[in-house]
Amino acid sequence: MDHLITVDDLEISDIQEIFQLADRFQHGRYAIKKQLFAGNLFFEPSTRTKTSFIVAERKLRIEALDFQPELSSINKGETLLDTVKTFEAIGANIVVIRHRDDDWAKQITPYVSIPVINGGAGKKAHPTQSLLDAYTIFHEFHRFEGLNVVIAGDIKHSRVAHSSADLLDKLGAQVFVSGPNEHMDEDGKYPYVEIDEAVRFADVLMLLRIQHERHEKESETTLDNYHERYGLTIERERNMKSDAIIMHPGPVNRGVEIDAALVEAERSRIFKQMQNGVYIRMAILTKLLRNWGLIDEDDLEKC
Ligand code: ASP
Repeated sequence: MDHLITVDDLEISDIQEIFQLADRFQHGRYAIKKQLFAGNLFFEPSTRTKTSFIVAERKLRIEALDFQPELSSINKGETLLDTVKTFEAIGANIVVIRHRDDDWAKQITPYVSIPVINGGAGKKAHPTQSLLDAYTIFHEFHRFEGLNVVIAGDIKHSRVAHSSADLLDKLGAQVFVSGPNEHMDEDGKYPYVEIDEAVRFADVLMLLRIQHERHEKESETTLDNYHERYGLTIERERNMKSDAIIMHPGPVNRGVEIDAALVEAERSRIFKQMQNGVYIRMAILTKLLRNWGLIDEDDLEKC
């Protein structure tokens, strides 16, 4: 694994190693002894992913290089590839990229000599979110086999849905999708369940917001009574299994895909996901830097 672009880059052994590293970072403080720089190139809005990468980098004492696309030479016609090559030339040892193009990585990874982490690619992939989702589920249930995971919402336009469904399926969970027909993928890769049925058998109910910014048709965006028809209402939550959990990658639109009060419900793991995101991102950074021979075990210092 040279880069992390989609969950297809991950073997089961890579996932296990990332989880073990994340456990280690959760229980002890570690820093990298060498001077290393990370470029965080976010071309789309981000609160959780960008901030947790910065925290992960700073905890490891990797120097985080900020980048604001609106103030960068992108506005003078520089391409994404030339921007990444510039970061590499100036000294970035690793880069995290978020961009609205589904396939931006194809234009980058063949032409650079530093590890690249996908922090979000259009509608297609968000592998670091999926790893933190899987890590959160594993810490809750200590297994994936036999678990029913329902991903409910705007599946078609969600990179989280695509990556998390594929990763959890690879790990042995039973993945289902739920939501409006307008928001379902045409390939029907994962079985569809109505939300009223989903709440009764799901061990994990992962809710997603409507991805308005990625819609091309008005009919995808204007759906009447969304909360009542497709969302997790107070009444539906009462029908969930006693040990089932609620997840959401954020940002949450309270009162749309989930009742406002349920974000803080006892069974909600929404803020736990955010906490786990820091350890998982520390683990991914460490693993890729190791894979490239940029650090070894001796460079990781307990502090
Ligand atoms: N934060 C997630 C993402 O970047 C989910 C979302 O935006 O709905 O894809």
